[in-house]
Amino acid sequence: MGAASAGLLGFLHRGTGSNSLPSPSATRRHGIQEKMVRPRLLIFDFDGTALGGHEPYAQFPEPFVHFLDGLAGHGMQWVTNTTWSPEMQWEVIRRSGVRSTPAFLTGQTGRVLASVVEGKLVFDEEFAQLIAEKDRAFRERVWPRVRNLFITMLQHDLVNRLAFDFYAPQCVIDFTCNEGCEEEVWQLVRPLLDAGDYYVFNPAQRTSGMLLPAHMNKGDIVRVVQNRLDILPEETIVAGDASNDLHMFDPSLCGWMICPTNAEPIVKDHISRHGGIIATQPYSWGVIEGIESILRHCSKAAESEKRVKL
Ligand SMILES: [Mg+2]
Repeated sequence: MGAASAGLLGFLHRGTGSNSLPSPSATRRHGIQEKMVRPRLLIFDFDGTALGGHEPYAQFPEPFVHFLDGLAGHGMQWVTNTTWSPEMQWEVIRRSGVRSTPAFLTGQTGRVLASVVEGKLVFDEEFAQLIAEKDRAFRERVWPRVRNLFITMLQHDLVNRLAFDFYAPQCVIDFTCNEGCEEEVWQLVRPLLDAGDYYVFNPAQRTSGMLLPAHMNKGDIVRVVQNRLDILPEETIVAGDASNDLHMFDPSLCGWMICPTNAEPIVKDHISRHGGIIATQPYSWGVIEGIESILRHCSKAAESEKRVKL
């Protein structure tokens, strides 16, 4: 690892230019010094993480493209984890000029799993069936309660917008409260949240709300990917910026957590409490900064270990 990461760091410094890279000391570290396992997998979000701070928006910045290819060249696999469909992701990846191939593309908030075979996107049917079965069981379980909730909301004129597509498998609830009704609406939906059936997509929102089914999250699919690739959580780096990334920022799913400086406060707080890295750079520059910090740490740990053995 020592030689590999030192080589990669050298490559990255050359590839991205010294002005775009933070000094190692600028990175806020939280407990990563204790970790000695070499990372083998990077899982990252799109909006606000890999994408942002760059035009065109739907294209990775050049330093990130080189970085991904550099990681792949040194044996680290990478996987996407976003709300985007795998088709749109693959389009972004190809348009950006990334030469390496993602081990998996996961999309639609953990609902879709795809990989690239001979340059073509292939969807995982087994996983699709698993999600379809979860959708079916979920709808059967919650629909009577959700239906009553909707009737109450509408009868009491509590919302001016209520979206729920009965024929879509997602069962997402999306609403905007009438002025002054926010408290009542959130109290009404609270039992769905307390029972663990739904979670709030963006807890910072108050007037409007989007509730996602518990099984539609970015965390469960991390474990699926790790099992398929035979990679341990402690060998996994996760990078994201928003509250919908919190499911993948689970200490039982990853050895390292990274967020760029533009991350939501709730994410920074979580990362801080769980020994992750809050980068000083935004978007993909922050991801690069965080991973460089981890690799630098691993190189030092490997060198220390070698010295102890000698
Ligand atoms: Mg995001």
